[in-house]
Amino acid sequence: MNDCIFCKIIAGEIPSEKVYEDEEIVIFKDIAPVAKIHLLCVPKEHYAYLTELNQARVSRLGRALRKIASLRDALGLSEGYRLVINQGENAGQSVHHLHIHILGGETLPWGN
Ligand code: 5GP
Ligand code: ZN
Repeated sequence: MNDCIFCKIIAGEIPSEKVYEDEEIVIFKDIAPVAKIHLLCVPKEHYAYLTELNQARVSRLGRALRKIASLRDALGLSEGYRLVINQGENAGQSVHHLHIHILGGETLPWGN
């Protein structure tokens, strides 16, 4: 997607602090962290919403979750973490390329 900031990060056109990358996903530090550890796990394929999931995307998303779980200790999340996927306006989704927020590194407040 031409104007997508995450596609540009994936392509290396915009710098980011990548902590993991394979052929399907990249994980990098959020530029405006809301927790001590705040990472974004982004599928390399551009799509914005869970309503766009097809079987291949479901499989890749499942592998992404399994990868996050396997990286838990390496990412400093052994004491727990939270995954968030904002969808649409009410959730405040600001980047319309599907991504999983990975939050941790401290006790996380439960709220909005
Ligand atoms: P959303 O609000 O769409 O769920 O999350 C988008 C996230 O992307 C936000 O937490 C925001 O801080 C992060 N973000 C936006 N632009 C950039 C950028 O250029 N680099 C990085 N590393 N994160 C970004
Ligand atoms: Zn994109």
